[in-house]
Amino acid sequence: MRVIRGRVFFRGRLDALSLGIGENGKIVAVKKSLRGDEEVDHGDSLILPGCVDLHVHMRDPGLTDKEDFPSGTRSAAMGGVTTIAEMPNTAPPVTSRLAYEEKVAALRGRGAVDYVLYAAPRSEEAVTRLGEAAAFKAYMAESTGALQVGPGELEGILRGAQTSRKLVVVHAEDPRQFMRGKVRGLEDYSAARPKAAESSALHWLASSRGEARIHIAHVTCVEALDAVPSGATCEVTPHHLFLDTSRPIGARGKVNPPLRLPVDREALWDAFRAGRIDAIASDHAPHTLDEKGVPFDEAPAGLPGVATSFPLLMRRTRAGEIDLARLVSATASRPAEILGIAKGIIEVGRDADLLVVDPRTAERIRAKRLRYKCGWTPFEEMEACFPHTVYLRGESVVEDGEPAAEGQGRLVSTE
Ligand SMILES: [Zn+2]
Repeated sequence: MRVIRGRVFFRGRLDALSLGIGENGKIVAVKKSLRGDEEVDHGDSLILPGCVDLHVHMRDPGLTDKEDFPSGTRSAAMGGVTTIAEMPNTAPPVTSRLAYEEKVAALRGRGAVDYVLYAAPRSEEAVTRLGEAAAFKAYMAESTGALQVGPGELEGILRGAQTSRKLVVVHAEDPRQFMRGKVRGLEDYSAARPKAAESSALHWLASSRGEARIHIAHVTCVEALDAVPSGATCEVTPHHLFLDTSRPIGARGKVNPPLRLPVDREALWDAFRAGRIDAIASDHAPHTLDEKGVPFDEAPAGLPGVATSFPLLMRRTRAGEIDLARLVSATASRPAEILGIAKGIIEVGRDADLLVVDPRTAERIRAKRLRYKCGWTPFEEMEACFPHTVYLRGESVVEDGEPAAEGQGRLVSTE
């Protein structure tokens, strides 16, 4: 048995504990002290469950000039993420069983962290054929990849998902609320795809979802939070918590749904601190600087963030702005629960997916360190606290803050 020691987040609080890790990479014991064949003592560092990121676009296969599975999952590991949920708008899009199986085969053995794959069925029948997918993604509005479905198709998908008891993750924006006209920058863009488009889509969902289990992707504002159908879960991205229309980043900050005004961002923070947000998900959606370096109107929407999500929030936790329990819930245990995977909690029987972080360390974010294939981050210069060690099923995938291994990520099945 291997033993890992430190200040462990266990049963809702921090304690100096030893974790026993079995041959199968699972936690087999949690004790005040344990003896093992191999012992690692992390001293005062915190040992938290590895993060589960519900929303990433690793662009593989087909769009690998932006990112690929090895590079994106290495960056994820550096940011403390040990399981990702990969979106279906790759090329070809995962709309059929064949495309799903091809994507499974294409990614096998190439990821640095564990993963589940979403599919994007476009009809009730397609839902049945895509039963192996972890969950489904439905786009109510246009975004990268052109997978938008109309209300009729979405009703079919929701019916199918209800029958198969699958989760549907919804990109909830009502395109009827979008404004036409010249968009020159972030403020224009927020006005063109307004908050009302989110609320309107959510009201439609509340009346049309039947008994389907739904999760609302990237909620940007309190008005939309208020409209999340009861019983549904929701996520917020770090860019909507840390960036707003006042940042001078132009088209690099173009994302769907848009960054909002500073006042909206502050209200979203308060809602997060108050426990109104189930999960933090990065919506890591890289584009190259060439693609972003065109007039705002023509630039693609989406920005990278999988490596900085936890580190930005950990820094704020250290500053006393968020409770540690809130952080762990939103980055690990709750997203795992939403997906229905046996991850996200430190307890006997679970995979030893762990991040180890010294909260006293702080550094400024530099794109180079994150190793994204696209080579940039909208969070440049912001203070963050990165994990120094990350374990995936007991094996270290990050050591001294640097990627230490790759290719051992596995496709995780849902319960
Ligand atoms: Zn997305």
